[in-house]
Amino acid sequence: MNQPVTIFSFAIDLPLYHLFDYSMDEALAGQPGQRFMVPFGKGEKVGLLVAPVAQSKHESGKIKPVRASLDSEPIMSDSLMKLAGWMASYYCQPLSEVLFNCLPRYCRQPRSLKPTGLHYWVAQETGPELINTLHKKAPRQFQIFQSILNSERGLNAFELRVIHSGWRQQVNSLQKKGLVVTQWRENLPVQPQPRIAGPKLTSAQKQIVDTIKPVLDKFQVHLIQGVTGSGKTEIYLDLMKQVIASGKQVIYLVPEIGLTPQLLQRLQQRLGSTVVSSHSGQSDFLRYQSWDQFKRGVVPVLIGTRSALFSDSPLLGLIIVDEEHDASYRQQDGLRYHARDVAIKRAQMLNIPIILGSATPSLESLHNLEKPYYRLHKLDQRPNNACPPRIQLVDCNHTPLNSGCSAQLLQAMEKHLDRHGQVLLYLNRRGFAPVVMCHDCGWQASCYQCDARLTLHQSLNKLICHHCSYSLAVPSTCPDCGAAEIFHYGVGTQQLERFLKTRFAQLPIIRIDRDSVSSAKPMDSLLQPVRAGDPCILIGTQMLAKGHDYPNITLVGILDADQALYSSFYRATERLVQTVLQVSGRAGRAEKGGQALLQTAFPNHPLMRSLCSQGYSQLVKPMLEERRLLGFPPYARAVSFLVDASDLSAAMQRLQRLKDDINTLSASADVKIIGPIPALMTRRLGRFRAQLSVLADDIRPVRLLMNALMPQIRGMRNSESSRLVIDVDPVDL
Ligand code: ADP
Ligand code: ZN
Ligand code: ZN
Repeated sequence: MNQPVTIFSFAIDLPLYHLFDYSMDEALAGQPGQRFMVPFGKGEKVGLLVAPVAQSKHESGKIKPVRASLDSEPIMSDSLMKLAGWMASYYCQPLSEVLFNCLPRYCRQPRSLKPTGLHYWVAQETGPELINTLHKKAPRQFQIFQSILNSERGLNAFELRVIHSGWRQQVNSLQKKGLVVTQWRENLPVQPQPRIAGPKLTSAQKQIVDTIKPVLDKFQVHLIQGVTGSGKTEIYLDLMKQVIASGKQVIYLVPEIGLTPQLLQRLQQRLGSTVVSSHSGQSDFLRYQSWDQFKRGVVPVLIGTRSALFSDSPLLGLIIVDEEHDASYRQQDGLRYHARDVAIKRAQMLNIPIILGSATPSLESLHNLEKPYYRLHKLDQRPNNACPPRIQLVDCNHTPLNSGCSAQLLQAMEKHLDRHGQVLLYLNRRGFAPVVMCHDCGWQASCYQCDARLTLHQSLNKLICHHCSYSLAVPSTCPDCGAAEIFHYGVGTQQLERFLKTRFAQLPIIRIDRDSVSSAKPMDSLLQPVRAGDPCILIGTQMLAKGHDYPNITLVGILDADQALYSSFYRATERLVQTVLQVSGRAGRAEKGGQALLQTAFPNHPLMRSLCSQGYSQLVKPMLEERRLLGFPPYARAVSFLVDASDLSAAMQRLQRLKDDINTLSASADVKIIGPIPALMTRRLGRFRAQLSVLADDIRPVRLLMNALMPQIRGMRNSESSRLVIDVDPVDL
């Protein structure tokens, strides 16, 4: 007699729209969310069980059985699988790809999962004689024993290795003597002591907390719009305490990995609970460990970037999305989704509250305030009466610039530094100079595979493409005409740094950009002098514009914000306003007043003028109005089809055919079609890119069209010569 079998569909980690069916012994009791090894082609792959399949669909005997089970129970909860299902349908992405994206990379591999934890060596009670002998006869062992004795929870292998590279042998001897024993324990970040009480909430903060606290048991989107430094984090902390006290857990999303160490410490100190983090700077194992600890309820709080949202736990009680306007919440490669929007959906499915915080909320979130489940909470002032600085314009038309700095800016810097303030200069362009050219023939250094210039990196003596990393040694003569000299123009952060190092030779100059920050030199350690509080100059790109709190920065200089004024990107002004307010908000956080200088060649431009006199709520009004008139998001919903191909005409033709197909569908009647047009940067990494967008005033016609179109798209094959990607709620049109 054969064992009864059941057939299940499985997701396999491939960008394919369909699932694969396999049979399984009923004795194995497979459940959705469990992983199995399944035969695939000539080999085998990890399959995630999705759902049972009706037996009658298949002729008996054709279905292959699964090979082995990797997990004894599901590693993905029902609720997370439902969320993945929603994402697949909303973002028109393959379910398999979404499901595997919701798992830590470590779990996508064919391995059984062991509970995370580490061996710790812990000291045993012992008499003085043994220790005296050890002191005299085995000083190394004595030293290690002392360290173990002095540690609060014992030491693990990583910590012991720091003390002595040959620790293993010494510890074995200690163990034989009965002086230490090993224990298997959770590997948790060390709790900073003592727990620090927070400031007393201001009445404005208290009012927000009091409004949200009674409704922490249900889904609602709380948008906290508070100027930088107004104490939003204090509000999160208060609400988190309440959620943790009720036995629930919190996911706290931040846009930038550089923010996590500082925030991790602040949260631990204040909550008195262990907080773990998850971000792309960690190894696959460490990310898995945080995921596992959160899932098992060992830690109440997990902070992390984008994908930390997919941490699974039956006790999730609150999601916080800090700096909700930040572009990095949008994943632009591979699976395209917006972590803020998915977080809202997750909260809705779990019926739990979600907090979005920002000094400069996205136009999407402001527009969404019309929805019944959104609530706006505003914080207009900073505690301690510290004021966000007023922005002053510096007209750059009639003053020579010194490596990007006007005389007025340099004077202000001297004044603030003399008074023991710190200075932050924002320049969103890394490298030494963005333009390299020949005067004789007009040659410009450009990338051979992108529509982009090469940036001069003088310290490396290289020209580098910032889009594909192609690099070239700086030529000594013009490659085209042989002229003896080539010139560079424009200023990048490295040039600014070099200039300031001679101009302010006695001061620390700290540069934060993608070239200066690495795993060996994390942002947190580079910023040490800033935290120490002494006068210094901080130069930074976009990386630095986010949520840092440095009370001694009193002057902010924004060197070059003008590009946004003539950009064809329709969100350019929104981004400009957000960046200027975020960056200038870094000044004058504590009691010291702050100053913000914005250099521009367009001091009479209406936007530049309003930046000096208006707050964010006023600044966004005309931007929203403009979007409404244009019929652009957030007043419209859009889907873009992106094709990259080996030549532009192939890309355009594929999209034209798609457009023709769309036009034949009755569901296309209520949507507007833009394109096909070449993408903003048409050639990138040697591929030619074009796009076609459909949009409508409302999501419904767009969904109807996509439902009608998807069967056809699912059947399309992507090849090297032409690849189609669907982008729902695209950043650009
Ligand atoms: P945000 O998250 O809005 O940028 P934070 O919560 O980080 O603001 O607060 C900014 C600074 O103000 C922090 O140094 C914080 O300790 C301080 N702060 C916040 N709330 C209060 C308060 N009620 N009283 C005194 N200081 C406060
Ligand atoms: Zn030349
Ligand atoms: Zn390139």
